[in-house]
Amino acid sequence: MVSNSVRSAPRFMHLPTFMRSPLINDRSEFDIAMVGVPYDGAVTNRPGARHGPREVRSASSMIRAIHPVTHSNPFELCRVGDAGDVPFENLYDIQVVHAEIETFFRALGDDGLMSLAIGGDHSVTLPILRALAKEGSLGLIQVDAHTDTWDSFMGSDLSHGAPFRRAVEEGLIDPSRTVQIGIRGAQNSMEGWDFSDSTGMRVLFMDELTRIGAEAAAQEARRIVGHGPTYLSFDIDGLDPAFAPGTGTPEVGGLTTVEALTLLRGLRGVQLVGADVVEVAPPFDPTGITALAGATMAYELLCLLSEQS
Ligand code: MN
Ligand code: MN
Repeated sequence: MVSNSVRSAPRFMHLPTFMRSPLINDRSEFDIAMVGVPYDGAVTNRPGARHGPREVRSASSMIRAIHPVTHSNPFELCRVGDAGDVPFENLYDIQVVHAEIETFFRALGDDGLMSLAIGGDHSVTLPILRALAKEGSLGLIQVDAHTDTWDSFMGSDLSHGAPFRRAVEEGLIDPSRTVQIGIRGAQNSMEGWDFSDSTGMRVLFMDELTRIGAEAAAQEARRIVGHGPTYLSFDIDGLDPAFAPGTGTPEVGGLTTVEALTLLRGLRGVQLVGADVVEVAPPFDPTGITALAGATMAYELLCLLSEQS
């Protein structure tokens, strides 16, 4: 298979696709598409996540095939490829950008591919959910320092602090099947937390996760989303900035990479329909540690997705 021969070459060679997977030309030859979404026009503070896909592609040359715990091999279970980046024609109008993202992911789904997206700021998850929630609202597992359920910011209701509020309003996610994990940091207003709370989302704050542990958090997440179709969104700022400094809105006191791996490995069996890793901002990532963390979380998500299709 092409993918294996590419992956067995020395890891410093060749064009850097995600996890050294083949580029997708003919979609009928693939089951899972990894997609770059290089857009950060919706950040509320420090930009840079538009450079995320390129650096995660490069760091992901470190990713190997066989999972160290489950011995599962996603590249054998599924035909995995790199679909390139969402081709943007307009970067200065969020609504147009989001429509372009939705169109791209909808087409992948129509062609029978599952998608694993690499952002980009967290606003990109909203159009992906619009593309995927075709047959009713989805469950959501969100790893993040922030609930991203704020309303509007500086005149826009599409900022990266708002996607999951919009997703509830549009019926894309079911708040009673939504769990937000790793939430922390002081706030100037209760607006976002109140929205999550009042709509019935399960908000697993970081202090609770520290108390109960990552394995119990995974168990709780599985209980909340149940057996229905579920999307998983991993904001890299859910990790502690000691492990992932390269992000726009860092919050100290987050998950270690070990806790994050334990959490994701505890989610086997959840009926995932898609996933993303967002908010890797290479300008704040001089050592590349955040891009490597992002690539590694993406590999864990790929393993979960490959067991679904
Ligand atoms: Mn977020
Ligand atoms: Mn966040």
